[in-house]
Amino acid sequence: AKESGRNAFRFYQQGMQQQVTERALLEKALHSAISNDELYLAYQPQVNENGELIGFEALLRWFNKELGLVPPNRFIPVAEETGLIYDMGNWVLETVCQQLKVWQTMGLPAEFKGVAVNISPHQFAKENFVETVQCVIEAAQIDSDLLDLEITEGMLVENISSVAEKMWRLKEQGIRFSIDDFGTGYSSLRYLQHFPINQLKVDQSFVRDLSCDPKSHVIINTILSMAAHMNVTVLAEGVERLIEKEILSSIGCTTYQGYYFSMPVREDLATEYLRSATIF
Ligand code: C2E
Ligand code: CA
Ligand code: CA
Ligand code: CA
Repeated sequence: AKESGRNAFRFYQQGMQQQVTERALLEKALHSAISNDELYLAYQPQVNENGELIGFEALLRWFNKELGLVPPNRFIPVAEETGLIYDMGNWVLETVCQQLKVWQTMGLPAEFKGVAVNISPHQFAKENFVETVQCVIEAAQIDSDLLDLEITEGMLVENISSVAEKMWRLKEQGIRFSIDDFGTGYSSLRYLQHFPINQLKVDQSFVRDLSCDPKSHVIINTILSMAAHMNVTVLAEGVERLIEKEILSSIGCTTYQGYYFSMPVREDLATEYLRSATIF
């Protein structure tokens, strides 16, 4: 028994060692991801009840020759811990704004509001975040209301006054804000009202439960009435099936994003979607 215990410990150590090595490899490769041109964006359509294109969410992709396609849930945390998130976040903002310039020049469909960009907590907390966003928008010469910044609830509970101040300054420029993964954090009307929020994105977990768990109707209904009081819109994330879209629609949630409508797509297909203005 003693022997097997020792073996188990050795395996455990080897497992740890492997994790440490993988992490080190990932971190090393991540350092040169931007300069090696390994990053690109995928755009996932956001649609209204009629299937008209109302926006895209830009999602970061990293393809490395050795590591393959690394999912954002694996490399974003590493980028945050190492501070690489600043350059990476700026790269995303610049790329989105340059793309928006091209699309704006091409002519945007009537219902199209713009592109949502995920902002990480560290990126937002950086003292020059507001100026950085302004610079990127000016350099690209786009309308600032084409940009929708997605932040998470967790970011709103710390340093309320400094976070609110930054958001108001950006809001004054016309930039919009969405709360991502809404309902999974510390939602309370009391603190949400401090911030200039345009949209709540209902987390996919609630959408997933819709067809089996009546409680999730209650939750989404609560979010919808709260949003109506705050005068903000609600978009449901992770809509995978027609039944989910139908239930959402029946309870009054009328803008959506998810595999049922489209996967995140490369810019050429996104441009095609824009040209036809609808997804179906
Ligand atoms: P998120 O912001 O909640 O993004 C939505 C995720 O759900 C995306 O995963 C998207 O591909 C996926 N998704 C979309 N529709 C469906 C659906 O119908 N069903 C299911 N099961 N999933 C769906 P992705 O692209 O792997 O991104 C994961 C997370 O990585 C994002 O979650 C976001 O937190 C983060 N992320 C992605 N791009 C960026 C970025 O540019 N900056 C920062 N800071 N974070 C990013
Ligand atoms: Ca998001
Ligand atoms: Ca989300
Ligand atoms: Ca998320």
